[in-house]
Formats: sequence, structure tokens, C-alpha cells
Amino acid sequence: MIVASTIDELKGWREDKNDVGFVPTMGALHDGHLSLVSKGLAACQHTVVSIYVNPTQFDDRADLANYPDTLDDDLAMLDALGVDCVFTPSYAALYPDDFAFRVEEQELSKRLCGAHRPGHFAGVLTVVMKLLNIVRPDRAFFGEKDFQQLTLIRNMVDAFFLDTEIIGCPTVRERDGLAMSSRNRNLEPDDRKLAPKFYEVLQSADNDDDAARRLADAGFDVDYVETIGNRRFGAVSLGPAARIVRLIDNVAVED
Ligand code: AMP
Repeated sequence: MIVASTIDELKGWREDKNDVGFVPTMGALHDGHLSLVSKGLAACQHTVVSIYVNPTQFDDRADLANYPDTLDDDLAMLDALGVDCVFTPSYAALYPDDFAFRVEEQELSKRLCGAHRPGHFAGVLTVVMKLLNIVRPDRAFFGEKDFQQLTLIRNMVDAFFLDTEIIGCPTVRERDGLAMSSRNRNLEPDDRKLAPKFYEVLQSADNDDDAARRLADAGFDVDYVETIGNRRFGAVSLGPAARIVRLIDNVAVED
């Protein structure tokens, strides 16, 4: 496995390869990420994983500062799985323009998480556009855990005629139902015990208001619960002010 920390190294590795799969991540890898990597390895001849904590998508400095960093463990896991290349670029390399240019979507990105995290999706779409242009993968793998993000990325790839097939992968959960997330490791023990109730309520509530009320009663700080089409989306927070952990999830519901 090679670790490319510059764009030149990545392009040098990419040059003579066909059939390349790509899994963009922010590191602190868990089985959710690894399920995407396994799909990439099974479907493509070569698989690149990027590890980059993208500052332009964080609307909260404390969230960025507290974001877990487990690079050595991440690299060991990816190497053991048989990944060909890990891309670990710097901000200076990815943002020579210092984020003067950005990809803005005007509809779906303003709803759900976009309504609660101003600028979040411009940061996400911009970094994904940059990564896709650098890696030029045949296929890229994204999790349904971030369903709104997956939809926006699919739509961006269509809108800009990018030559990558976007593949959505099911949410991987802990045994108690909590969707795996890098941020879960920042949950206090009591909050970790409460967290699976989020998924349980999203699934079992009669309607969005009922879900929001039940979550608030259980002790969650509720950002939103909203059903669009046949999918119910939610975002909640747990924990003390300096170490708030925000959880998002979504479930299929009857239309
Ligand atoms: P992140 O490192 O959180 O930016 O996530 C990188 C990729 O992994 C994104 O496509 C996420 O949707 C995906 N992902 C994160 N958590 C999960 C999960 N529990 N199940 C499936 N995919 C996930």
C-alpha cells in the first residue's frame, strides 16, 4: 500500500491504472467505512481511500477540534484489507485558492442538515469535486448513513458531467442499532447508552412530531426530524456544551 500525501504522488500512482475505486473518508475508521472499502476492493481492480478532515465543511470549531484522529490505526487497517493507495492531502494542496471557489447547491442542500449547519454542504461538495478531479475514479463509494450527502453528490456528478459512477452503500450499525460514526467515540458513557434510542424512535414513531417529542423526552437535543418521500431523516445532539456530539441517521418509512 502506498501513502500519497501530495497530489503529484497520487497522480503518479494513478497514471497507469484502470478500473479505480475510491472511498473518501475523514479517518477514525470504523466498520461502516470498511464496508465501503470492501465494496471497492470487490468491485474494482484498484482502490484508493482518502483520509482528510475537511475544515470547510465544519460550521462548529469545537466539532473540528474534537474530531478524532487515529491515522496510524487507520493505515494499518487499510493495509490489512489490501487497499492499494491512501491519499492524505494537506489543506494547502487541496485549497490553493483558499476556498475562494466553491460548489453551491441551492435546493436540497438548504434543507435538513443544511438548514442547521450553514455552509456545510458547500464544503462537502467542494472537497468531493476536488477529490474526484484529482483521483478520477471509475466508481466512488458513499454511505447511506449520510443520505442527504449521497443524494447531493449523485446530483452534482450528473450536473457537472463527471465521469464517475456513484455507488451508495447501506448503513452499518452497532449491535444495538446505533449507526456507526467516527463521532460515537466522543460520547460520554451515559450518552452512549441512550444513543441507540435515536434509531429506535426514528423507526417506530407514528410521525415526525411524535419522533421529535419522544427524543426530546428521552434527553436528546433535537435538531430536526423530517420525512421526505419515503425516508425519515433526523439529527440530534448529546453531551455537555464543550463536547457536544451530533448524531444523524435516516430510515425508510412507508410513503
Ligand atoms: P466520514 O469519514 O464520516 O466522512 O464518512 C466517509 C464515508 O463513510 C461517507 O460516505 C459516509 O457516508 C460513510 N459512512 C460513515 N458511517 C457509515 C456507516 N455507519 N455505514 C455506512 N457508511 C458509513
